[in-house]
Amino acid sequence: MIILRGGTVLTMDARRRVRRADLLVDGGRIARVGNFRAPRKAREIDCSGKAVLPGLIQAHVHLCQALFRNLADGLPLLAWLSRRIWPLEAAHDPRSLGFSARLGIAELLLGGTTSVLDMATVRHTEAVLRAAEEGGIRYTGGKCLMDAGRGPLRESASQALGETVRLGRKWHGAAGGRIRWALCPRFALSCSPKLLGEVRALSEREGWLVHTHASESREEVDAVRARTGVDNVVYLDRLGLCTRRTVLAHCVHLRGDEIRILARSGTSAVHCPAANLKLASGIAPVPRLLAGRVNVALGADGAACNNTLDAFHEMRLAATLHLPRYGPRAVSAAEVLAMATVRGAQALGLSGEIGSLEEGKKADIAVVDLSGPHCQPLGADLHGTIVYCARASDVTDVLVDGRAVVRDGRLLTLDAARLAAAAPAEAERLCARN
Ligand SMILES: [Zn+2]
Repeated sequence: MIILRGGTVLTMDARRRVRRADLLVDGGRIARVGNFRAPRKAREIDCSGKAVLPGLIQAHVHLCQALFRNLADGLPLLAWLSRRIWPLEAAHDPRSLGFSARLGIAELLLGGTTSVLDMATVRHTEAVLRAAEEGGIRYTGGKCLMDAGRGPLRESASQALGETVRLGRKWHGAAGGRIRWALCPRFALSCSPKLLGEVRALSEREGWLVHTHASESREEVDAVRARTGVDNVVYLDRLGLCTRRTVLAHCVHLRGDEIRILARSGTSAVHCPAANLKLASGIAPVPRLLAGRVNVALGADGAACNNTLDAFHEMRLAATLHLPRYGPRAVSAAEVLAMATVRGAQALGLSGEIGSLEEGKKADIAVVDLSGPHCQPLGADLHGTIVYCARASDVTDVLVDGRAVVRDGRLLTLDAARLAAAAPAEAERLCARN
């Protein structure tokens, strides 16, 4: 049992209530939120002067690219992929891939992100899953599927599908349900219609999420239209891939009918503002997506195109980027925090389990110190303080499944200092193989 005592709880429940309350964690779940006498055996975390948030959820990341940080700057999407990312992913061996995933997980947990939807690379996927198992993060993800186009990662559809089924059956539900499998076709241009059709059938049969990229850059959207004769989301919908179990990263360049398809089908879109800016892809029409009742989650994408995995950076961008075009009230701080919590949970198909701090839900929690000069004085809207002022480095404590993984700013599951110190040599070895 753990009691988080004396904090201000941003519940992110349906009414977005903010309460001065204690929170009791028992058996991996939130047992009580309110004012009550603590059971004697509960271990106490002093949260006075701090905000207690649902653990942040990033619905689009690539742990395999954490080691490519600062190695792929100054390129647009398709050149960035073919010249830098695919060769670097192809150069991974199980050791460098596991290292990259641990480096990414360390950054994520220390910054309050407790759940990710990840896209691994094509080979050695189990190295990522083992890192997630050890690091203690809530992980949904899978092997990247690529059977079309050029490049060193391409494999046959039967090879790609055979391996994804084998790994999915082995890993889905591992670590007490903390690890879940997802089908991860890279994007329309890297996948044959046959492979995408099989992905749809597998998702239906196994209940696995489909996690892919869509409509990130103008060049990509034009190439999809040239190949298929229709817009990207229309193409995916015709293949039966727009469903409640599908998560589309980016959705920057969409037409009105594509937004209606996402809303009608319950397909989630993941807003990745930092990556969209850095690859010069564009700005997703988030206010239009929200007005059209599309579920929008948030993600940092990868350290190779961002160059951090900092959820606070994404939140601040999401809360400000759209205002010049749509007006100063177009996207509220509470709405942005919802993208990083409850809406992320919905994208992952975990609404009943995570995303808000309510009794009975899993105890995935981030505690944020608001005493720093950059947060003071606090305003009336604490959602605003978190989104506009707070930083990843303000996170002091993190729980996943009721287990403390960060305590007083120190990661307990992995040696973050050792990972950072060893990263240059690991990156050098990877580049030498590339
Ligand atoms: Zn991505």
